[in-house]
Amino acid sequence: MEQLRLSPSRINDFNNCPQLYKYRAIDQLPEPPSIDAERGKLIHSVLEDLFEEKIEDRTIVTALNLLPKAWEEHLLSQPELAQLVLDEKEWMDRAGSLLSSYFTLENPQSFDSTFRELHLEQNLSEEIYLHGYVDRVDIAPTGEVRIVDYKTGKSPKPGWEEKALFQLRVYALLYWQNHGVLPRLLKLIYLGDQKIVESSPTEVQLKSTEKILLNIGEEILSAIETKHFPTKKSRLCDWCFFKTICPAHN
Ligand code: SF4
Repeated sequence: MEQLRLSPSRINDFNNCPQLYKYRAIDQLPEPPSIDAERGKLIHSVLEDLFEEKIEDRTIVTALNLLPKAWEEHLLSQPELAQLVLDEKEWMDRAGSLLSSYFTLENPQSFDSTFRELHLEQNLSEEIYLHGYVDRVDIAPTGEVRIVDYKTGKSPKPGWEEKALFQLRVYALLYWQNHGVLPRLLKLIYLGDQKIVESSPTEVQLKSTEKILLNIGEEILSAIETKHFPTKKSRLCDWCFFKTICPAHN
């Protein structure tokens, strides 16, 4: 059997609904772009470019100036986005407001970022490969490592922060395994409601994250072997592109 490729988003799919995982990861069915996901990609690319600027130039004015060019590049690589964005002014205004939110949460002139879109990977076992792209990794002059992820949506409701932090614990585990340094801080930046969720990972937490990943990997491998991907109905079904072909709804 081929090695299983795991990433935080695929794990999320399987946990939300094994059938959804099958449509995406096994059948690789195409999905139309979603306006929220595309807005997220646009903001991510502007913030990535912002840290390529000299420290004194990392201002909101620079970020807003980078926005039209980033949007042009997105349109060039995905011309179908023109059909998705019907009101371009509203789209750019919303993107600009998310960038303004960023500057209320961090001052990019006060630190240097070490890596953007850092790809981390590791074989968890002979059968399971794990990888992910980290939005930003900052290494302080003292050697302390901070792992940062931007979200263009709103922060989780009280009690759901741990679920949100799982993705960053996966990155922290990969970073630890790749570089031998336990990250000091995990930081989720929610631009949608200008909130930050932070956590300091411990060795115990990351070892437990690894066990969880191995268990999920085994579950997926068993689903592949038995060709059994149960449906799991939830509120997510209303946003699921595959609802029209899903056996749970037909
Ligand atoms: S519609 Fe719901 S049950 Fe069906 S695949 Fe999508 S998320 Fe799963």
